Amino acid sequence: MKKILVLDDTQSMRSLLSMTLKQSGHTVIEAIDGIDGLSKLKLNPDVDLIFTDLNMPNRNGIEFIKDVKAIASLKSIPIVMLTTESEEQRKLEGKAAGAMAWIVKPFKVDTIQSVLEKIIS
Ligand SMILES: [Mg+2]
Repeated sequence: MKKILVLDDTQSMRSLLSMTLKQSGHTVIEAIDGIDGLSKLKLNPDVDLIFTDLNMPNRNGIEFIKDVKAIASLKSIPIVMLTTESEEQRKLEGKAAGAMAWIVKPFKVDTIQSVLEKIIS
């Protein structure tokens, strides 16, 4: 059982991810943007994995990844981006910023499970 932080400004996406992860027995913390995500991460530095959306208000996914990677005690936490097909350029930016993998939306529940197993097994 792992502790997973999920960032997405879309409520339905957060709920879907959260439900999928909870069904596998994981603990989920939800955040609505990069600012909320970073403050929740600081309160829960024992998070095992982060899923982050790219397009969010206030502080987006790329900025969030950069923020996390700049903090020595948090930078080794694996980060998976949630992108759409059209976001090829931003996917590369996220990778350069330190994201470990990405999942294209809309995704299948199985995809979440297999990414999770690969990264934290
Ligand atoms: Mg979004």
